[in-house]
Amino acid sequence: MSVRLDEKLEPIYQDVLRRNPGENEFHQAVHEVLETLGPVLVKYPELADQKIIQRICEPERQIIFRVPWQDDKGEIHINRAFRVEFNSALGPYKGGMRFHPSVYLGIIKFLGFEQIFKNALTDLPIGGGKGGSDFDPKGKSDDEIMRFCQSLMTELYRHLGEYTDVPAGDIGVGQREIGYLFGQYKRITNRYESGVFTGKGLDWGGSRARKEATGYGTVFFVQEMLKARKESLDGKTCIVSGSGNVAIYAMEKAMQLGAKVIACSDSTGIIVDEKGIDLKLVKRIKEVERRRIKAYTEERKHAKYVEDGNIWEVPCDVALPCATQNELNGKDARALLKNGCTAVAEGANMPCTPEAIRVFQDAGIAYGPGKAANAGGVATSALEMQQNASRDSWTFAYTEKRLEEIMVNIHNNCYETADEFGAPGNYVAGANITGFLKVSKAMMALGLI
Ligand code: NDP
Repeated sequence: MSVRLDEKLEPIYQDVLRRNPGENEFHQAVHEVLETLGPVLVKYPELADQKIIQRICEPERQIIFRVPWQDDKGEIHINRAFRVEFNSALGPYKGGMRFHPSVYLGIIKFLGFEQIFKNALTDLPIGGGKGGSDFDPKGKSDDEIMRFCQSLMTELYRHLGEYTDVPAGDIGVGQREIGYLFGQYKRITNRYESGVFTGKGLDWGGSRARKEATGYGTVFFVQEMLKARKESLDGKTCIVSGSGNVAIYAMEKAMQLGAKVIACSDSTGIIVDEKGIDLKLVKRIKEVERRRIKAYTEERKHAKYVEDGNIWEVPCDVALPCATQNELNGKDARALLKNGCTAVAEGANMPCTPEAIRVFQDAGIAYGPGKAANAGGVATSALEMQQNASRDSWTFAYTEKRLEEIMVNIHNNCYETADEFGAPGNYVAGANITGFLKVSKAMMALGLI
């Protein structure tokens, strides 16, 4: 990490390295936040005296457990699952579950750590947590997915509750998985506790616009960043990495706001369609048929598929990384700039490496970090909890309007805070400081927790 930390913050970071060996993504996420907190400690020295940062860097509780399950042939498999309950100063732990073979404690801790600040930015009463497993859902039958989810929940249920810890989806966990997890929770506890999970189906307690929320929210955030520069998305060319939940609905909202989306991807390759991505086709391939993105060219013959292609080399005005962490490095960032890109917003969590972020910031383009730009997902999860608590169900239009207001508010808070702390236009500083101050004030008010 080449940016030097403030002299009060460096020892805290060294301690994080020492106490959490090998957890590189977690180290990266902590460093990125600490880089921006120097001026905050000057203004609020009591936060240093009270060791608020050291406390925030240590999860309140970490749960690691075995998940045994049987495949369709009767063979037994053992996976490992995690739930990191990071911070509950603002409300119950809230954050998704990720199923992906790359999952280990360091990934879940980086996601949980970011979640604390993101959730604080929404101004809604939710703490930060995250969970997941190294289980790979790819190629598994529905029955296998169900058995895995049931086995996982047989342990996890005891740690959850609508006032305690409320999971949701993330990579590899969509409505199907949430259904199986929620069903097992209901069975074991004998409670129809809708508010214990978000991202549920519309027929069983879900919120309209939750599926769309992260992607839509990211594009609302881009629109605000562009507005601050007297520009708009209308007529802009856009590329979106991934073709999962976040990517699909980022593409949809970008198109609705007049952008032309010409490329998307999955972990095997990229699609470039200069006539504009056919989103209906992508939805069918990914949401219904659960196939590889390569299938797109079977019906759109003029489109190009490049196996292992680099999407960041496709010229665009706006780039939205919506797949996974560290998917866009310094070289990719320079390629984007060279081809005229002027705005980047993170639909995924930590998709840009520290070097890529520096390249964007040095060039002065609009860069929105995930903590702020993808907070629309968790914000709408909190709206789902509100509807569950009041046994209510809002319309799509009303929920989307609330989402948009929340994203505008997050943008404006980040923008103003960055200004106040001497870093105008720096949304990383704005997001980190706004989120940090909100959590810190609550922690100070609640005594030594
Ligand atoms: P999905 O599982 O629905 O989609 C993930 C997409 O990213 C897929 O296209 C997948 O391709 C691709 N991808 C995943 N891992 C890799 C990898 N290692 N290399 C290349 N491509 C990869 O997940 P989501 O859309 O829900 O999540 C995407 C990102 O957004 C994550 O960073 C997540 O943490 C973040 N996020 C999600 C929220 C939500 O509400 N869902 C909320 C806030 C942030 P393939 O299918 O080939 O694996």
